[in-house]
Amino acid sequence: MVKVAVIGAGAMGLAAAYHLAKAGHQVDVFEADKVAGGMAAHFDLGGLSIERFYHFVCKADQPTFDLLNEIGLKEAMRWRPTAMGYFYNGRLYPWGDPISLLTFPHLGLISKIRYGLMAFLSTKRSDWSKLDKITADKWLKDWCGQRGWDVLWDKLFALKFFEYADKISAAWMWTRLKRVGTSRRNLFQEELGYIEGGSETLVKRLVERIEAMNGRIHLGAPVSEVHIENGMVTGLTAGGVRHDFTHIISTMPLPLVPKLIPGLPAPVKDAYARLENIGVVCVVHKLKHSVTKNFWLNINDPAIEIPGIVEFSNLRPVGDTVVYVPYYMPITHPKFAWSDDALIAESFGYLKRINPNLQDSDRITSALGRLKYAQPICPPGFRDMLPPIESEIRGLQIADTSSYYPEDRGISEGVRVAREMAARVQ
Ligand SMILES: Cc1cc2nc3c(=O)[nH]c(=O)nc-3n(C[C@H](O)[C@H](O)[C@H](O)COP(=O)(O)OP(=O)(O)OC[C@H]3O[C@@H](n4cnc5c(N)ncnc54)[C@H](O)[C@@H]3O)c2cc1C
Repeated sequence: MVKVAVIGAGAMGLAAAYHLAKAGHQVDVFEADKVAGGMAAHFDLGGLSIERFYHFVCKADQPTFDLLNEIGLKEAMRWRPTAMGYFYNGRLYPWGDPISLLTFPHLGLISKIRYGLMAFLSTKRSDWSKLDKITADKWLKDWCGQRGWDVLWDKLFALKFFEYADKISAAWMWTRLKRVGTSRRNLFQEELGYIEGGSETLVKRLVERIEAMNGRIHLGAPVSEVHIENGMVTGLTAGGVRHDFTHIISTMPLPLVPKLIPGLPAPVKDAYARLENIGVVCVVHKLKHSVTKNFWLNINDPAIEIPGIVEFSNLRPVGDTVVYVPYYMPITHPKFAWSDDALIAESFGYLKRINPNLQDSDRITSALGRLKYAQPICPPGFRDMLPPIESEIRGLQIADTSSYYPEDRGISEGVRVAREMAARVQ
């Protein structure tokens, strides 16, 4: 039996702790927040327990299914046919299938064929070595042509990545297209999944299983330092108290590593310090009426400064309409510091522009979540920029949502990496 600490009680940290406890180790999870779940945590939205940040499951998410099976939640997966839309210059168009593409009036036939081929071949591709050498904007322009880029992609990239828009790896972009593109019933029908009860169902079950195996989860216990002596991990300080451990798995955002693990060699700390993230302010509205019938709505409209909205209740029925309006942005962007009320008002105004029948009286309640480290910026060659998960310090493993590049951040890849990290602890 080994004494292991896990830093962070998000999906990755909890999954790692579960596998460690199952292997017979003594596990302590330290979580800064007062609740478990990290990005997958729930909150109370006017009496409804729901994710602070929307979560959908794709058919490619095998590690999620493996974990759900293992912890007795196989039956909790639900699948629904979902629709996608595109709000372009004040008008709503269907999107996401060949007929929608062919009938979309703002692109020529050649651009449509090029876009359709790119989307289709992305679902068939497995080798990403060439894509890791170029940026997503170049790749998409090469495929879709300048007009296709201008109509379909330019604004999405500008409003999600801002100054990083031309620095994103094509390999990262491809995995996103592939994951969603393969989650279909057939060529004409997208099908997405959710966990009954939301991501909280997974979080709660992991917590239960960990505690049933004598693991301990310390909430409201931010780790302030990981201690290293003679090239070995020796423990950590959390909430002002020092604890001894021979093994530590850190799942906190990688940019925090240099400060919290000062004993790492300087070049390794420098590598972590170079990693960049964008933040998110994710507004969630509970409404009396639906905005559109789509789960996902891409937006390219002069009056709307967000790249899309997620009408979550079109995937997971929760009684009322629930719509997420994510504002991704660098945390230096002035909007990141806007008040909750200002962001709620602006985003609800956007919903009214998309659906002019929506009245102020249709808004039941709204809330928002802010994250500083919401999305790692993955430029070409990103894997070579990342220090290895298994650090050169004995007993120390470090990962976050960047660690499974080129895959995008997601629960499935997080729990896969968690399983691998737990297996390395001997
Ligand atoms: C807007 C949004 C939408 C998303 N949509 C989806 C989706 O549809 N499908 C999907 O699969 N994934 C989605 N994701 C991604 C998914 O939520 C994440 O990939 C996953 O939850 C990350 O889990 P994690 O454990 O790696 O990180 P986190 O959940 O970030 O957990 C890390 C934990 O470490 C804690 N921590 C940080 N510093 C310290 C410290 N010093 N001491 C102790 N604890 C610390 C944090 O509080 C946090 O709880 C979405 C994310 C966002 C933001």
